[in-house]
Amino acid sequence: MKVDALVIGGGPAGATCALRLARAGWSVAVVERQAFPRRKVCGECLAASNWPLLDALGVGAQLREQAGPALHEVVLAWEEDAVAAPLPARGSGPDRFGRVIAREVLDPLLLAAAVRAGAQVLQPATVRAVRGAPGAFTCEVTQGGESRHIDARVVVAAHGSWQPGPTHDAGRARRERPPPRARDLLAFKATFRATALTPGRLWVLALDGGYGGMVLGADGITTIACCVRRDRVLAARRFADGLPAAEAVRGVVLDRCASVRDALADAQLCSGWISAGPLRPGVHLPYHGDGLWRVGNAAGEAHPILGEGMSMALQSAWLLADHLLDNASLVLCDAPDPAVSRAYAGAWRQRFAPRIGIAATLAHMAMRPALCEAALPLLRLWPRTITTLARAGGKAHCAVTVPDACREPSMPPRTDDPAATAPARDGARNRPLDASLVRAEPTPADTGAPLAASRPP
Ligand SMILES: Cc1cc2nc3c(=O)[nH]c(=O)nc-3n(C[C@H](O)[C@H](O)[C@H](O)COP(=O)(O)OP(=O)(O)OC[C@H]3O[C@@H](n4cnc5c(N)ncnc54)[C@H](O)[C@@H]3O)c2cc1C
Repeated sequence: MKVDALVIGGGPAGATCALRLARAGWSVAVVERQAFPRRKVCGECLAASNWPLLDALGVGAQLREQAGPALHEVVLAWEEDAVAAPLPARGSGPDRFGRVIAREVLDPLLLAAAVRAGAQVLQPATVRAVRGAPGAFTCEVTQGGESRHIDARVVVAAHGSWQPGPTHDAGRARRERPPPRARDLLAFKATFRATALTPGRLWVLALDGGYGGMVLGADGITTIACCVRRDRVLAARRFADGLPAAEAVRGVVLDRCASVRDALADAQLCSGWISAGPLRPGVHLPYHGDGLWRVGNAAGEAHPILGEGMSMALQSAWLLADHLLDNASLVLCDAPDPAVSRAYAGAWRQRFAPRIGIAATLAHMAMRPALCEAALPLLRLWPRTITTLARAGGKAHCAVTVPDACREPSMPPRTDDPAATAPARDGARNRPLDASLVRAEPTPADTGAPLAASRPP
């Protein structure tokens, strides 16, 4: 089987990139390890900056229907103390604030939209290894205990950052992850019903050795998500007589923040604690020397205190799609031009590296009790500082340009392709499909057209 682009991971970054490439007529396969809908460690606050992009992807209306209340205020909480500030607005319309959107809703919607655009989805399936070089990759994919190979000109790494990615070539061992360190940040999440939270207010929690967030979303469900240093988790587990890590973390959060104790006083656990990590905050671009195009967390991860990870996933995928589509003839060939990847890396850094820096500064402050104690009285005097920091962190600004009437550029004809001259709908090229193309497995979340039938045989 052969495709123009294989996308590793069907999260927000992978689905967005796949959708745009497929819309422009590329043959695209997305390989996603997990069946959807799946729970995911995430605070689930999606910044207002993403609405134009989500509309252009064709999922905005459905997301608005299923999202929680608009988030207009942020409250920083430390011990018994708290400071509130307005969240920055994007313009003045009804979409000026971010909303809470459950990952069980967002991720399947985006992936189903990619399928409607023509992408093939293998799910659950895992990319184990990527061999070859740009222009001629071969990916080893396992699904249901069987292994198969997919050839692709372009491979997009959208596998996030919390698991080791696929190995790169036959001889090389799976890229080593650093050994566990005391300062590693482990991530946790749980949801609750019947909390005492006010709609529209996002709580940012400073914990000694960690930080977190708490917010009321759709259907009266509150999400609490946090990151805690490994040594703090271990200490809490020892103190709590070997409780599971997530339960011990719940103790840390309750112990550190009066606001959480108040909010959860009469609450019931809705879905239990799940964990992920360690996180890998920082820039992972441009290359690991493997020629893969990285988007989302795989390209770079901001400390989640800023709640910008999903924005970066969506917007970096959009950015990459712009670069690939604008330079299709230079990347869909035997010897792709490395200048395109350098240009993408440069554009990525310019747009997203500042968010990563701001998030790191805020995270390190929130994790240190002495800094929190010094900063809170000042923030109480000048609460707008929090608004300014949130704005600088990208909350109200989309890093990519989304044309009003979003029309995808078409893929240039390839001389070796007999279908290259065939007239195309909406400027997209109608490429004949390889009969062996993977068939998407319908997922429980997809109640619409079966995925397998989304592309003509
Ligand atoms: C505690 C916490 C709170 C957060 N809160 C927020 C928030 O409020 N707002 C916000 O915007 N962001 C938040 N984030 C960040 C956000 O969750 C991530 O940045 C976002 O999920 C990144 O999207 P992605 O598509 O790059 O990767 P992911 O969402 O991680 O998707 C990657 C996908 O790839 C799949 N995959 C992995 N390896 C393979 C493989 N080999 N083969 C096939 N598939 C594979 C995985 O199953 C996964 O579905 C938070 C993060 C944490 C840890």
